[in-house]
Amino acid sequence: IKKKVKGVYEKPVDFTKVDINLLPTVIIIGRPNVGKSALFNRLIRRREALVYNTPDDHVTRDIREGVAKLGNLRFRVLDSAGLETEASSGSILSRTSKMTANVLARSNFAMFLIDVRAGLHPLDLEVGKWFRRNAPGIKPVVAMNKSESLFDGSNSLKAAADEVYRLGFGDPIAISAETGLGMTELHEALKPMLEDYMLQVLNDEDNQGNSEDNSCREDEQSKLPLQLAIVGRPNVGKSTLLNTLLQEDRVLVGPEAGLTRDSIRADFEFQGRKIYLVDTAGWLQRTKQEKGPSSLSIVQSRKNLMRAHVVGLVLDAEEIANARRSMTHDEVIIARRTVEEGRGLVVIVNKMDLLRGKHNSTLAEKVMEAVPLEIQTVIPQVTGIPVVFISALEGRGRTAVIHQVIDTYEKWCVRLSTARLNRWLRKVMGRHSWKDQASQPKIKYFTQVKARPPTFVAFVSGKAQLSDTDLRFLSKSLKDDFDLGGIPIRIMQRSVP
Ligand code: GDP
Ligand code: GDP
Repeated sequence: IKKKVKGVYEKPVDFTKVDINLLPTVIIIGRPNVGKSALFNRLIRRREALVYNTPDDHVTRDIREGVAKLGNLRFRVLDSAGLETEASSGSILSRTSKMTANVLARSNFAMFLIDVRAGLHPLDLEVGKWFRRNAPGIKPVVAMNKSESLFDGSNSLKAAADEVYRLGFGDPIAISAETGLGMTELHEALKPMLEDYMLQVLNDEDNQGNSEDNSCREDEQSKLPLQLAIVGRPNVGKSTLLNTLLQEDRVLVGPEAGLTRDSIRADFEFQGRKIYLVDTAGWLQRTKQEKGPSSLSIVQSRKNLMRAHVVGLVLDAEEIANARRSMTHDEVIIARRTVEEGRGLVVIVNKMDLLRGKHNSTLAEKVMEAVPLEIQTVIPQVTGIPVVFISALEGRGRTAVIHQVIDTYEKWCVRLSTARLNRWLRKVMGRHSWKDQASQPKIKYFTQVKARPPTFVAFVSGKAQLSDTDLRFLSKSLKDDFDLGGIPIRIMQRSVP
């Protein structure tokens, strides 16, 4: 059972077997009333949508997220409609600009909807401009919705397509969210991008797994150096924190042979555990240039992320107190990718001393409340990501940081025996309410195939598949019962006779 699934993934990709946390995210954009919600509903069908709020500009908006099914494709789809309709005043630009950086940062691809009956509307051009500026790495698939009304053999559809082409995002496809017309074409348009993305993710996953599995045996674990990367925007206090971390137990600082000049490594020991600090100068600068989460920048930052086991993302408390949201676009991207790449994440809010003045104690409390909430919103798939509040300048919080880093690392390395997991499974399945008792899939056994991050396979008998709800239930129960909160967990399913 424990046989490792090796080898290189090739096309065609079986999206139904991919852990939903690894699926690409596609956002639906467009001016109001073009049919975004209608398309969203068609794509997720009866599946449940996850509705969550983004606190932004003091207005709470709903964004819907669901797992889309389009032919053999699966992806996470975001409906941006709620973002606009709630902001009733202002031009389309001010409305769409209110669509948070969070939402775009969560997206890998986009579908740009036009109402074909209205032709190319000035607002469409504005949305296009806005999107190009805010997500330059993404080329959206343009779809002319409500096309069923023009499928009458006349040339009007062709004329509309010529017009829509002026958006500059390539040839549009004709669809109807209401009748389902054009879904095959939409599938064809999305398939190559989503497949390439998925192959990249799966192969990186697998290679990572192969190279690390041997080095993560339980008996060796404690002696292995933990690789910690401290990242953040300029001036948040990374260097100050590094010095604080190294202060007492510094073993060595300096360039090592074979490393590039901007990559300086230092290590230190804490209670007998060796910690390597991976210097990551330039991470954020690099992703900043390629703001949109295009495939290219994913590859680049993935390489960096893969060097670290745990990423400490440093935020500036004073900036948070003065801003409406805790994390900037870049910080959200780093946080999301860290989790998507299966690394451990510890969020470090620095410069708390600046909020502790006599007028400010409530400000400190506010920040301490807001940051964990926002992280949960931005990364809904992992609950309980640790947040530490420190003052690197005053040397406060060093131990807290190290404890959280080590704790995260240990959870990330955990290995649960198959016997233990199956005892747990029998208990836990009793708690689960299956949608349909008669056709419920049977999990024959459950095993951990990999650590760093913990990756599990459910062997399911017969034709039935575990639904996303089932998988989420398993994931949550694992986290609760084995104390694995705050780290990414993956569950895959395989069919067995
Ligand atoms: P959103 O604001 O972009 O989310 O747009 P909605 O999904 O709320 O749709 C706006 C209106 O267009 C609604 O009245 C829908 O019923 C209608 N609509 C959506 N898709 C289609 C379609 O494919 N054909 C037609 N004829 N109407 C559509
Ligand atoms: P980096 O660019 O992220 O490496 O940031 P630095 O470590 O160079 O810090 C930038 C500035 O913030 C410097 O002036 C530091 O003295 C200051 N700073 C760093 N940590 C703290 C802190 O905890 N409290 C306060 N008040 N200032 C800090």
